[in-house]
Amino acid sequence: MKLPHDDFTSVATEDWNDWRWQMRHAMTDVCSLGFGDADGRIDAQRRYPFLVTPYWLRLMRRTGFTDGPAAVQALPDARELLGPEEGECDDPFRETELSPLPGLVHRFPDRVLVVASLACAMRCRHCTRKNLLSVHAAPDMDGIGRIRDYVVAHPAVREVLLSGGDPLLLDDDAIVERVEIFASLPQIDAVRIGTRVPCTLPMRVTDALATRLGASRKVWVNTQFNHALEITDEAAAACARLVDAGIPVSNQAVLLRGVNDSADALADLFRGLQRMRVRPYYLFVCDPVVGTSHFRVSEERAAELEDEVASMVGGLALPRFVRDVPRAPRKLPVRH
Ligand code: SF4
Repeated sequence: MKLPHDDFTSVATEDWNDWRWQMRHAMTDVCSLGFGDADGRIDAQRRYPFLVTPYWLRLMRRTGFTDGPAAVQALPDARELLGPEEGECDDPFRETELSPLPGLVHRFPDRVLVVASLACAMRCRHCTRKNLLSVHAAPDMDGIGRIRDYVVAHPAVREVLLSGGDPLLLDDDAIVERVEIFASLPQIDAVRIGTRVPCTLPMRVTDALATRLGASRKVWVNTQFNHALEITDEAAAACARLVDAGIPVSNQAVLLRGVNDSADALADLFRGLQRMRVRPYYLFVCDPVVGTSHFRVSEERAAELEDEVASMVGGLALPRFVRDVPRAPRKLPVRH
């Protein structure tokens, strides 16, 4: 299969390293990659949009264009249209029900989630919000102000999670504005940013942005690397910029069939994260979301993998293997 742009060797380095150039040149149609009607990918992308940047497309090309770990997470798949399987729904964690204001989810007493942006640098096929990104709203600063008032009226809240979509696809001022409005509240101990861009669009983490986020002294970043092959030099440099700016960075990986469901793959991932000074924090069993059943690994197998990996890496590199269970008060360990 001939790929567009021939590995982008003709792109100027300055353009390649410009996250806005990457987003302007994102591909949103699998037909442009040479896929046709026969494999069901086009039907799948009608239901669940497709988006990859040139950066991710190059990673796909270098790691298995149709069946490598980068490809499997990005390419539409006819199996997304099957189901729902038992236990699956569009909104397993009742985000729409637990939303007292547009763009705000209050599921746990001590923390709230703010949908800061609906844009992503890649449309991950296993996304927990794959059925919700068209339902949620991303509030403007007036809406963010109302969320701030809500937080003040709920003094038990001590942590704000900026999520989405991907909050780091906002421009620098918009991100810092959203961080500061919450970080300036004495009741708030941490503003957590949930973002995949260190992995999917590492050039977005500029020195300037990292420095401004680090200056708040309350920002924590949670990212998502799912396979060691995602740890490119560019991704490692992005994580280093965050860590060097004083920001604790943790990784919340997802256990995905066909991507990382072996002890060797997981151990390689966790070691690679540790080398980047990114804490392997959680490994989630794929959430019970419609359109993701082909990715799901059984809890029993997840527990076996946990035992195997625990004998391969030290405790600092071993995340908690967990499942997010609807209505549970916290993340639960996988069943042994
Ligand atoms: S970047 Fe995050 S929110 Fe966006 S599609 Fe991927 S997992 Fe979902």
